[in-house]
Amino acid sequence: MNAEIELSVVIPVYNEEEVLPECHKRVKAALEALELAYEIVFVNDGSSDSSVEILRAFAERDRFVRVVLLSRNFGHQIAITAGLDHARGAAVVVMDADLQDPPEVLGEMVARWRTGFDVVYGVRAQREGESAFKTASASIFYRLIRALAAVDIPLDAGDFRLMSRRAVDALRQIEERHRFVRGLVTWIGFRQTGIDYVREPRGAGVTKYPLRKMLIFAFDAIVSFSSAPLRVATALGLFSSLAAFGYGAYAVSAKLFNDRVVSGWTSTVIVVAFLGGVQLLSLGIIGEYLGRIYNEAKARPLYFVDEVLQ
Ligand code: UDP
Ligand code: MG
Repeated sequence: MNAEIELSVVIPVYNEEEVLPECHKRVKAALEALELAYEIVFVNDGSSDSSVEILRAFAERDRFVRVVLLSRNFGHQIAITAGLDHARGAAVVVMDADLQDPPEVLGEMVARWRTGFDVVYGVRAQREGESAFKTASASIFYRLIRALAAVDIPLDAGDFRLMSRRAVDALRQIEERHRFVRGLVTWIGFRQTGIDYVREPRGAGVTKYPLRKMLIFAFDAIVSFSSAPLRVATALGLFSSLAAFGYGAYAVSAKLFNDRVVSGWTSTVIVVAFLGGVQLLSLGIIGEYLGRIYNEAKARPLYFVDEVLQ
């Protein structure tokens, strides 16, 4: 253990060759300005471009850079987790490689930490250079997860945040596989506060979160932090049972008091289709939770490290 490191900056990297040199330069400049003992922990999440070579070169000529190479692509949230496991600082900041989280905000985060906060999270007061779809879907996502989750996950806060050593150690005790890191950080408690920042456009390259990954991420977040979807299944079941009961009463009375009960094809098809849909949906929701239980029960390690440089 290198007890004298004050601040570790953890940066997950997945195919970021275009932006890495600029990222290293700006983060380093911001850290030098703070005049504290620091390290930058780059976690390579199985990049297939030249990111690994660039990171090796950083490690060779900058003794404040630590590089963790994962054995394959494990995903953003796991890469963050690996970085937190390898960070040695008294405080740890997680930020993206693409410079959307401005390194210049680090100073304010450190200042807040020094006044006694354990978690200082960045709140995206404004987003620049992102598609209308991304901004809108993110906004809906943050509001939905806040409404559904049992813990008060702050609005518009991503993974850009500072954590004190005890917050990091608390987080590291959580062994869940489907990790929604920002939710888990809220869940651990301690003293938390937010600071506003403007989320800048990507420095270079394209997003590594295509729609498919975004949907999986949102789904993981909701299912990890809420049982609301299960209650939707229950509510649907309840609603359709009541409707079926009412319809049954109507059918019986029609049979008794009315002679116009011949065809009935339309209603039969509607009822069968509706009930079939509700049942499949409910089964699907249960299946999602079951799949997660299965994954957690397997208790596989979260990731494997190929190599650690420095
Ligand atoms: N990232 C990662 N593994 C992945 C996808 C992304 O480590 O499987 C990293 C990526 O290199 C970046 C950060 O996670 O540092 C955020 O990704 P990105 O900027 O593409 O997401 P966006 O800002 O578009 O949501
Ligand atoms: Mg980004």
